[in-house]
Amino acid sequence: MKVYILGSGAAVPTANRGVSSVAVQIDRDWLLIDCGEGTQVQMQRFSVRWGKINHILISHLHGDHYFGLPGLIFTYHLYNRKKPLNIYSPPGLKSIIGQLLQTSLPNLSYPIVFHEFQPERPYGILSTKYFDVTTFPLVHRVTSNGFLIRTSEGDRKIKPEFIADYQPDRHLLRGIQLGNDYPDGNGDLISNATITLKGRRSVSFAYVSDTSFAPEIAEHILSVDLLYHEATFPDGEAALAKSKGHCTSGQAAAIAHLAGAGQLVMGHLSPRIKSLDDFLNQAIAVFPNTTLAADGQVYEIKP
Ligand SMILES: [Zn+2]
Repeated sequence: MKVYILGSGAAVPTANRGVSSVAVQIDRDWLLIDCGEGTQVQMQRFSVRWGKINHILISHLHGDHYFGLPGLIFTYHLYNRKKPLNIYSPPGLKSIIGQLLQTSLPNLSYPIVFHEFQPERPYGILSTKYFDVTTFPLVHRVTSNGFLIRTSEGDRKIKPEFIADYQPDRHLLRGIQLGNDYPDGNGDLISNATITLKGRRSVSFAYVSDTSFAPEIAEHILSVDLLYHEATFPDGEAALAKSKGHCTSGQAAAIAHLAGAGQLVMGHLSPRIKSLDDFLNQAIAVFPNTTLAADGQVYEIKP
C-alpha cells in the first residue's frame, strides 16, 4: 500500500501546502480521501494515476475537504470517462453535487454513485477482494468521519517440500492455498498448517480527519500501521483547538500511542504554526515515530 500526501494544510491553500487530500494505492486500485480545492492539480504534480480512481471518500463537508470535487468531476467528463465514480460521504453531499450537476453538467459522460453512510457508528462501507474500508465517527463542529483501509491477507503459500514429497494433483492446489487440508490417498488428512506458510500480511492505513481530541478514536484503529491524524494547533493552544474542533500535535501523538500505531503522520497543519520543529517535537515526546506531512510525500506500507 502506498499513501500519497496531496494536501497537508488546513483551511486555505498556500504556495507550500494544498488543502486536505491523500491518495491511496493498493496494487492496481486507487482511492482518494478528501478532495480539497486544487487536488486534481496536486495529483498531476505528484504522479497519481488519477484516471484510475474509482472510489472517493469524503470525511466531512467543510470546504477545505471537498471543494476540489466539482472540478475533478468536470475533468473526468472532459476526458470522456465511462466508468462509474463511487463517492462515500456523510449525508448531504449528494444533494450539493446533484444541484451543481443539474445546472452545469446535465449530460455527464459517466455515472456517479453516491454512498452516503450513517456517520454515528463504525461500519464497513466498501469491501473488495483486496481491501476493506470502514468508517468511524470523529468529534468536530459538523459531522466528521475517519476511515480505516485494510488490505486482505494473501493466500497461504504451499511449502515446496510438500510438492516434492507428495506431488499433489494440480486441481487441489488452489484449495490448499485457501486453507484446505490434503487427503494423502491412504485415508488420512494432512493438516493445512503443516504444508503451507502464512500468506502476505494485511497492512492498514487510518485517516483521522478534523476532530477534537477523543481517546475513543484509538479503539477504531488499533495496531494500525500508518496513522494520518490532523494536528492543527501547537500544544500551547489546546483551548483554542478544542473550541474549533481540532487537535494539537501532542493530542494527535496521544491517539497514535493509545492505538499502538506503527507510525504517525501529522497533517491539516495550520499556516499559523510558528515553528514546525517545536510542533513536531511536542508530538515526538509522546510518540517517537512521528513525521510532519508534506505535499508530495509518499509513504509505503510493506506487508
Ligand atoms: Zn473541518
